Amino acid sequence: MIKLFVIAVFCLLLSVTPVKIENPDIIKIGIFSRYNIDEFNFSALEGSYYVIDNNNGEIIKDIKQFENVLVKQTDNQIKIVLNNDTITTNEGITFSGQSFKNTFLINPINGNIGFRIYDDDLSANPGFQGMTVINSVPFENYIAGVVQSESGFGRHPEYYNLQATISRTYAIKNLNRHIHEDFHLCDEVHCQAYYGKSLYPAIIFATEYTRGDVIIDKNNQPINTVFHANCGGTTVNSEHVWINASTYLKSVKDTFCIDMPGSKWEKTISEELLRQYLQHNLGVKFNDSIANSIFNLTQTQRKFFLDPYEKIHLGRFRTDFDLRSTYFDMIPQGDSILLKGRGYGHGVGLCQEGAMRMAEKGISRDSIIRFYYKDAKLETSDNY
Ligand SMILES: [Zn+2]
Ligand SMILES: [Zn+2]
Repeated sequence: MIKLFVIAVFCLLLSVTPVKIENPDIIKIGIFSRYNIDEFNFSALEGSYYVIDNNNGEIIKDIKQFENVLVKQTDNQIKIVLNNDTITTNEGITFSGQSFKNTFLINPINGNIGFRIYDDDLSANPGFQGMTVINSVPFENYIAGVVQSESGFGRHPEYYNLQATISRTYAIKNLNRHIHEDFHLCDEVHCQAYYGKSLYPAIIFATEYTRGDVIIDKNNQPINTVFHANCGGTTVNSEHVWINASTYLKSVKDTFCIDMPGSKWEKTISEELLRQYLQHNLGVKFNDSIANSIFNLTQTQRKFFLDPYEKIHLGRFRTDFDLRSTYFDMIPQGDSILLKGRGYGHGVGLCQEGAMRMAEKGISRDSIIRFYYKDAKLETSDNY
């Protein structure tokens, strides 16, 4: 009897256990991650900073507002130069904000990258190909920066609510992606674009309004909210682009994105170049009949291979020829092949331009989520 009672209480507890979504207070982002930076200027725009030696935690400099510091890597050391005074460390340094609000500007010297502005702390550690530069920032400030980098200005407020929700969920789901590099996520599309703090009130408002909201699956776990710019009219099952199938990353027909800016593209490839590519990569004897079939490829429905033998995946062809999408028809034109394409990006998950159009039509964030992520649902923070 007692045993039954214990089981009954356990079942009851299970049924009412609230969703618990863990997200860090502070997130570490590898910034300028696709560049090899060995020299940059740091300026404190708001607040003041300590420069800390990462080796022993000692304060080695005090940086006042608007002071400018040069940081450079030579061999395996980091040098900082302030007012003609040079300090050298072996393990790297951290600029640690000391005021209520701390904002800095970072301007890489090499390359034509341009400056960026971030909140809070910055560390620079020596590496084999330039420094590893990491911004440590409150999680929700990072989300606002991502929303700005990923969706730009002038969108509908509900779209910003949506983008903040999917970017937050994506960050939580992929938090350990770069853990061996001593940061959580990088700042490029490999993770999510993050090119600095958001300065746009509508984005800051949407991030705050949706604070803590995530998208969960049937088991109450955050989903992998992958997204792309424009699906061209049909999204793709995840297993057709990557290896893993997913219950919620399933193909849907999308009429919302078809007149948006990323919906169409064209590219011309010389027939000679394409023949050479096919002879090299097809792995079967190349003849005019195969050439004719490939050079007249049509996709009324999405296909996944370039050739009838299924040797060359369209994803690989897209990478090799730097195409906007795998969703295209081929039309021979003289000694060239015209590719008439639809969409922009891998096509899995949420189509941003379709979602933008839906938000403009008054469709809610919740409905847009259910449209693109099968059987997933919005979990607002007051539910857990
Ligand atoms: Zn990454
Ligand atoms: Zn679409």
